[in-house]
Amino acid sequence: MTDIQELLLSRIRDVADYPEPGVMFKDITPLLADPQAFTALTDTLSQLAVRNGATKIVGLEARGFILGAPVAVRAGVGFIPVRKAGKLPGATLSQAYDLEYGSAEIEVHAEDLAAGDRVMVIDDVLATGGTAEASLQLVRRAGADVAGVAVLMELGFLGGRARLEPALGGAPLDALLQV
Ligand code: AMP
Repeated sequence: MTDIQELLLSRIRDVADYPEPGVMFKDITPLLADPQAFTALTDTLSQLAVRNGATKIVGLEARGFILGAPVAVRAGVGFIPVRKAGKLPGATLSQAYDLEYGSAEIEVHAEDLAAGDRVMVIDDVLATGGTAEASLQLVRRAGADVAGVAVLMELGFLGGRARLEPALGGAPLDALLQV
């Protein structure tokens, strides 16, 4: 493990049985509160955005906003929020996806993505991959290209990487930490 990975891992708090029994929640608030760790994270993610040739960063509500916005500023590209349904005031594209029990829906402002954009999606944790997959479907439906997905932490045992593969279409999935 690199020094940066050790620093990042040391600032993520495991919270057992949150928000429901059986879930080990990865709490990134200690990392956000540590300027050295937060800077190392946003520097690393913005280097990936530049490497991937991203022209826009999509951040997934809500922690993807906190990470994605400074990465976009650092990389010199625009930031686009993908929100839970019903939160964006303008004309939207919506994408529904299945959860373990029930379903969810995410949205993006239709005017924020267009053909010619190369979009990198950023979130804190990749779990089942359902949210990231739906966001890539939104990107493609808007006519934009997928530049990649980058997350702080991948929960490998949940199989999100395999689920994302078709939607990635050969674009990279980078996880700074693996569990
Ligand atoms: P998924 O769609 O299953 O990949 O879940 C991804 C979303 O849920 C991300 O936006 C994560 O922030 C959040 N999430 C899922 N599992 C966890 C976890 N164990 N700890 C923290 N966040 C999680």
